[in-house]
Amino acid sequence: MRRFWLTTLLMLCSPAWSQTIVASVEPLAKVVRSLYGPQVEVVTLLQANQNPHQLALSPRQALLVQQADLMVWLGAEVEAPLSPLVARRDKRSVALLDVPGVERRESGTHHDHDGHEHHDHGGAHAQNGAYLDPHLWLSVDNMILLSRAVVTALPEGLESQQPEAWQARAVEIQSQWRSRLAVLAQRPWLTYHHPWGYFTDALGLAEPVVVSQQLDAGPGSRRFVVLAAEIRERDVQCMIREPEAREAMLKRLCADCRVEALDPLGRDQPTLNYLDWLDYLGAGFERCLKGAN
Ligand SMILES: [Zn+2]
Repeated sequence: MRRFWLTTLLMLCSPAWSQTIVASVEPLAKVVRSLYGPQVEVVTLLQANQNPHQLALSPRQALLVQQADLMVWLGAEVEAPLSPLVARRDKRSVALLDVPGVERRESGTHHDHDGHEHHDHGGAHAQNGAYLDPHLWLSVDNMILLSRAVVTALPEGLESQQPEAWQARAVEIQSQWRSRLAVLAQRPWLTYHHPWGYFTDALGLAEPVVVSQQLDAGPGSRRFVVLAAEIRERDVQCMIREPEAREAMLKRLCADCRVEALDPLGRDQPTLNYLDWLDYLGAGFERCLKGAN
């Protein structure tokens, strides 16, 4: 009996702070989940079926943003629709793009625009005419910076040895894949809107053939001819296909390509933590670039 009361007392006194962290996209949630123990609930704001490039939030999602103990997002430059909601919050928020030293990759400079193409990744237009590549979570270095910023903002409820253990492992996994893929680094590959730059640059992989920087626009007929020629010339045999890519178009461009379906947002792998997901992506690229079945 005495023990029962002791336990009850302990339960009453134990911090009732079951806290909620809301992360805008699944990869950020994957990182945050690894850092905290069971007292902290991590919720992904973006539903698996929502297009990250044309984000429209439901009232329920707006409420989630408002009530989160900590809001983790990419930042106004790439998640503009979230910006007014975050601004109205009175609790803490971490925007990756506000973290000093964050890696910003530019895209849109290495492929032809045929006059009517406009990149529409949240309106991220830099001054020099290039665009900020919004897929910032695919940079391991960025996620290490994020893990630091997040635990500074919410130090309660951390798993022991976090975030240092997680960061060390992240560095290790990235360098393992870099050396493992070194033999395949010169192999060309095909992608639709090239969300992979942060990831593949860090691994030292070749520049891909990019169909269209814009997901909702296919190449015009002139561009199609140029792409098909480039695929032949470079002897492309691997196609990394994101879920929003136009599969029929890719098939027409490269009928013999080995196809590897990978989601840059990790929506297809909800149970994998970020580091296991990196392994999963690395293995996908390896299979595709090797070309063997
Ligand atoms: Zn994208």
